[in-house]
Amino acid sequence: MTHSSHLPVSLSILQEVFGYGAFRGAQEAIVDHLCNSGDALVLMPTGGGKSLCYQIPAIARHRAGQGVSVVVSPLIALMHDQVGALEEAGVHAAFLNSTLSSEQAGKVEREMMSGRLVMLYAAPERVTNPRFLAQLDSLHERGLLSLFAIDEAHCVSQWGHDFRSEYLALSLLHERYPDVPRIALTATADDLTRADIIERLKLEEAQLFISSFDRPNIRYSIVEKDKPREQLLRFIQDEHGDDAGIVYCQSRKKVEETAAWLETEGIKALPYHAGLDAALRQRHQDRFLREDSVVMVATIAFGMGIDKPDVRFVAHLDLPKNIESYYQETGRAGRDGTPADAWMTYGLADVVNQRRMIDESPAEEEFKKGQRGKLDALLALAEATDCRRVRLLGYFGEASSDCGNCDNCLFAPATWNATDASRKVLSCIYRFHQNGGQRFGAGHLIDVLRGKLTDKVAQYGHQSLSTWAVGADLPEQQWRAVLRQLIALGHVVTEGDYMTLALADSARSVLKGEVQLLLRVPTVAPKKGRQSKLAKPARKSAAPADLDDQAQQRFDDLKAWRAEVAKEHGLPAYVIFQNATLAEMARQDPQDLDALAQISGVGAKKLEAYGTEILRVLAIA
Ligand code: ADP
Repeated sequence: MTHSSHLPVSLSILQEVFGYGAFRGAQEAIVDHLCNSGDALVLMPTGGGKSLCYQIPAIARHRAGQGVSVVVSPLIALMHDQVGALEEAGVHAAFLNSTLSSEQAGKVEREMMSGRLVMLYAAPERVTNPRFLAQLDSLHERGLLSLFAIDEAHCVSQWGHDFRSEYLALSLLHERYPDVPRIALTATADDLTRADIIERLKLEEAQLFISSFDRPNIRYSIVEKDKPREQLLRFIQDEHGDDAGIVYCQSRKKVEETAAWLETEGIKALPYHAGLDAALRQRHQDRFLREDSVVMVATIAFGMGIDKPDVRFVAHLDLPKNIESYYQETGRAGRDGTPADAWMTYGLADVVNQRRMIDESPAEEEFKKGQRGKLDALLALAEATDCRRVRLLGYFGEASSDCGNCDNCLFAPATWNATDASRKVLSCIYRFHQNGGQRFGAGHLIDVLRGKLTDKVAQYGHQSLSTWAVGADLPEQQWRAVLRQLIALGHVVTEGDYMTLALADSARSVLKGEVQLLLRVPTVAPKKGRQSKLAKPARKSAAPADLDDQAQQRFDDLKAWRAEVAKEHGLPAYVIFQNATLAEMARQDPQDLDALAQISGVGAKKLEAYGTEILRVLAIA
């Protein structure tokens, strides 16, 4: 994007430096507020465009002679790429962390102290160490301390999932430099976390900017668990052949097994969890960021701060902890705004495991109560037969209407009235209990309901119970769904190591017929070819998929060229240009630098550095 001299400063920076035509949503108001030295707390979903909210004020303030902005980020491993992206765009930035030699660090410090540096990235423990504070004091005295940006601000909250004690010390920035504006940013939206951030970072005076949490390009699907690995493989093969994606599993063991298995099925999959050697973990992360089409199989240890824009899917093989986690994890898909999938398999064991983890945790009863409430909301989402997005956004306090881009909107699920079946389940549990006080698990319960004469049935004489074989008409899978729902709703509780079933007080209302249960008819796995049918609805931004043959050739050539540049610079490819930008170049096939400059994502520095090369690649293609 070329820049025009009579634009407001912030807009001209957006166009000239980053090559984007217009601000998104609240970005402009946030940028203005900081340029006017206000404090801000920004709540924006992942992919919403938080970085520009502090990068543009940092550049504008630096141009106005206000010196260096300090960006606090918890992720040392990613600072290199973030700084690389800024330098590619012609912005003088650097990071200070333990990976630098003392010589390198000394050079960065000199750049900072001279005020030449626009942005300095540092981890919280660095920012609050006495030596560094003395340097900040000196900058401050000379009027060269411009701005503090505190990224991933939810790390300060014990309610959040990523609590870091080092974040607590950041409150001293305000005490020490009350006149330096601060911006704290997070994608965590719940009220408790927000209140914590305000209190602990002393942001009472800050203006609050809350964006819509909707991610319209992400399609949410939750399928019933039935051979989950095969379901996952089919999902990847049918819909995401060559795409980069993340698969979340709960345990380290499952991460390793799933990655190894996908690998044998011909998918480039890598494991990531906190138990792996740090160097190996780093290598896998680098490959995920730098190569195309790597699938990262990970525990939740992976993902925070990963700003790879072209992750095309996030799959959950296990239920996340709550809706906040689900939304944050799925939000890592489709940051570039083009279509992406959030896909999850979910089954009875997930419900039981999550309930048990809460029950068995050493936390206070009050805390557990909160956790149970959160789990219930997630289970309701998983069992929902109406629009998933309406429920998700509703959870974050946002009203919306049917989205047309989730599984339930696209394929309205059939429902059946499971009230009678539920009563059969409950009375069977009741009979077990009556008949000797013994408790049993799901498998045995379903055997009794379906009239399957196993050794265990014979041993306990359960073929003489009044509930014996009363459910022979329904398949096992359907009984599991009923039981899962009853556990999800809290009418049935599971106990002990063997997950035996017991009735909760509320079961009485179901037994009396006061509660109606409407369940999804168990779904069959999505058929092949589904994607082509679904890809039709108008998309917000064009995916490379709709390039014609010639444009596709140009796109492939541009990608090959980009891969070389990225390798030479030691940076991920998307830092050079994002796929969406390359696709637009391929589609428009610009003939000169002026035309190339008009394409979104082409800033002045990149035009100067790569323009001629790109035109050459396009001309040969
Ligand atoms: P977040 O940190 O909120 O997850 P990012 O700052 O990484 O989001 O931005 C997500 C993507 O959106 C990035 O690829 C970024 O380049 C792009 N983006 C942000 N703001 C704009 C804008 N105004 N116009 C076009 N693209 C934008």
